[in-house]
Amino acid sequence: MEIVKKNLHFIEPFESLEDIQHIIVHHSSRRNMTTEECHEFHQKKRGWSGIGYNYFIEKDGTIVEGRGLHVGAHAYGYNRISIGICMTGDFDVETPTNAQLTSFLTLCGHFLRQYNLQPQDVLGHRELDGVTKSCPGLLINMEDLRKQVSEYLISFM
Ligand SMILES: [Zn+2]
Repeated sequence: MEIVKKNLHFIEPFESLEDIQHIIVHHSSRRNMTTEECHEFHQKKRGWSGIGYNYFIEKDGTIVEGRGLHVGAHAYGYNRISIGICMTGDFDVETPTNAQLTSFLTLCGHFLRQYNLQPQDVLGHRELDGVTKSCPGLLINMEDLRKQVSEYLISFM
């Protein structure tokens, strides 16, 4: 698995993640948004240190490091205890590419094994308390996604 680093500049120093308990899935909700565009959007429009996601998956399946294993800004109340993975796209109206899904399963499976987590620890952003948006998109069925994650993990046993 290759994780690309893009030399993004963050305004504030990184803080390490504490106790990783969840993987949280997001979509960019903007079609074809790139990592650099997301970084700039979060920095300039949201006023954050930089891209809020820990990892960002481009349309072609490229996995890009955002905050890496540092505290992100992607899920209120969960940023210190989760890894936020964003696939770019608006999954209210389109589905992830096969390349994105494959990369997602690879990355997600890697962290689940590394931190001894289960497929049920993978949550969609909208499944968190108090979240009203559809993230990671209406066309993403989280039960199906968790099933795919668990099938992916079984393929390693
Ligand atoms: Zn989200």
